[in-house]
Amino acid sequence: MASRDPFNIVESPVVASIPCIGCGNNMHCIRRQQVTAGEVQLFMCAACGNSSERVVGMQESDEDIQSAIEKSLGIARKAG
Ligand SMILES: [Zn+2]
Repeated sequence: MASRDPFNIVESPVVASIPCIGCGNNMHCIRRQQVTAGEVQLFMCAACGNSSERVVGMQESDEDIQSAIEKSLGIARKAG
């Protein structure tokens, strides 16, 4: 059964580190800023000082995705 709760990184207390494109070490999230579309995250590499910024948005739940696919395929949903 698909999950009713979307995984929204915006609501997560912890942001997983990402690999540094410069040296391959972990880049840790050092700043999070809420924006309309989601969250801006700033990552910095402790080894080489490289920094990277990304924007993450709100995600759809698996249940929403599943029902959208079922609707497009004309599959009737069982109650319950
Ligand atoms: Zn680095």
